[in-house]
Formats: sequence, structure tokens, C-alpha cells
Amino acid sequence: MTSKVAVVTGSNKGIGLAIVRALCKQFEGDVYLTARDLGRGEEAVKILTSEGLKPKFQQLDITDVSSITSAAAFFRETYGGVDILVNNAGIAFKPATPFSIQAEVTLKTNFFATRDVLTHFMPLIKSGGRVVNVSSFMGSLALNLCSEEFQQRFRSEDITEDELVGLMERFVEKTKTGEHKKDGWPELVYGVSKTGLTVLSHSQEVANAPFAPLGAGPGWVRTDMAGDKAPKSPDEGAVIPVYLALLPPGATEPHGCFVTEKGDSAV
Ligand code: NDP
Repeated sequence: MTSKVAVVTGSNKGIGLAIVRALCKQFEGDVYLTARDLGRGEEAVKILTSEGLKPKFQQLDITDVSSITSAAAFFRETYGGVDILVNNAGIAFKPATPFSIQAEVTLKTNFFATRDVLTHFMPLIKSGGRVVNVSSFMGSLALNLCSEEFQQRFRSEDITEDELVGLMERFVEKTKTGEHKKDGWPELVYGVSKTGLTVLSHSQEVANAPFAPLGAGPGWVRTDMAGDKAPKSPDEGAVIPVYLALLPPGATEPHGCFVTEKGDSAV
């Protein structure tokens, strides 16, 4: 019988590395640390190996569709699918970069590329499997600052993936002409990308139940992205994503929501 397998995107450092560490300890199967850069990935594997853990490695750049399809083919051929997928890879800009460039690049990684991973990996998720999207409370904040019209659409039960993609494309386009605010968007690029990711988890619930992705909020975590003032360590930030990834196969709750603390969920 083939082993069970867990895959974590963007896991050469930060919360992703901590998720792999926790899964190596708690998941009965192979755990793949993945990274866009081979060297950074191999260095991260060495860190965990020195701790007595046995992660495996697969190159995966989520903005490169050929990298996604190669990885998906590898897991299909080697394991017959995937048991756990954690979409953790993400970026955030420092403020100096022009807003429209921040919007294009951030949405490309945090929303569109994560969606590409889901498109290619959802068909591989095995019975009883789990998909977790690492989102952020910044997504909820940005949603609350959108126009009433956008809030209503993002919160609606019937939003489809296509409609959501159209809205995310509209945000990026409007930033190019500086019309995003007038159009009803907040000045929060990273937040809007995570609004999209959280709503994507919900919109895919309809299409993909029972393997619907769950949205995980790790809290504010000390990493290269969030800086050293954040209260949580990466291992503490990994707790919620790992809790969701390891929910027993029959668990029906939480479902289709963004989970911030164990048992405490919000849309
Ligand atoms: P880090 O910047 O420490 O780590 C981000 C990881 O994502 C890195 O491994 C990075 O790889 C990887 N990555 C970026 N782009 C790609 C790509 N195209 N393909 C594959 N991997 C990629 O950030 P965190 O650990 O803080 O963030 C992890 C996740 O948690 C993100 O989704 C973030 O938005 C989310 N989050 C973080 C919070 C926090 O307080 N830290 C709060 C809420 C959510 P590389 O080293 O090559 O750049």
C-alpha cells in the first residue's frame, strides 16, 4: 500500500517550515517540504533533519504552472494522490513599491497562483483528505473596508469561483489607473489578496465538498514577512493550519469558513 502524503507550499521558512515540522511529528505518512528555490528548500530540509525529523523535498513554484503540473504528476504517480495539501506560500510587499505593482504581483501569488495549485491538486485529493489555505485576518479587515456592493458579493452564499476571479482581476486593473478607491476597494493590497483567498475557500466548498479547502488564520507570527514584533512564534502560528489539516476524515465541522482559533470560526 502506498504511504499517505502531506504537501506544504512555501515551506522553506516561516510558518510553512513550522507546519512541516509539526506534520513530521503528528502525521502518519510522508511530509513534503516544498520551495520555489532548490537551494533554500534543501537548506530547510537540513534544519529539520538536524532535529531528528524526516521531511522529503519537492520543488514547487506556485507562480509557475509547469512546476505545479510536474509536482502534481509526481504525487499522482508516487502516491496515487495527496492526503493533505496546505497552501501556505504567500508574499507581502514593503510599502515603497508602487501600489499597482504591489497589487499585480501580490494578487498573482496569493490569489491566482494559489488557485492554480488548487485547480491541479483538488482532483488528486484522496478520500478523507484535507486542503487548508493559509489566509489572514487582514483579509477580513480588507473585506470590511470594501464598498457595500462588494461586501455583499464576497459574503454571498452563491458567489462562484469565476465571479470571484473577475472581482480580483477588476481590483488589479483599477489600481493601474488609480481608480480602485472610487470603485469600492480599500488601500490594502495584501488584505484584498487574502479576502480573495478566504472567499475562494468558500466558493470551492460548493464545487468540491467534502474536500473543500478550509481557511486558516495563523495569527500574527514572527517571520520575515511580519517582522520580529509579532507575538507568536512560527511553531505557534502553525497550530491552527495543522489542527485543520489533521481533522479526522469524518469531521464535518468546521466547514467552509475561516478558522482563527480552535473551534472558533468566522466567515
Ligand atoms: P515568509 O515570508 O516567512 O514565508 C513565505 C514563504 O512563501 C517562503 O517560503 C517563500 O519562499 C514562499 N513563497 C513565496 N512565493 C512563492 C512562490 N511563488 N512559490 C512557492 N513559494 C513561495 O512568510 P510567513 O511564514 O509569515 O507566511 C506564510 C503564510 O502565512 C503566507 O501565506 C502569509 O500570507 C500567511 N500569514 C502570515 C502571517 C504572519 O503574521 N506572519 C499572518 C497571517 C497570514 P522564498 O523563501 O523563496 O521567498
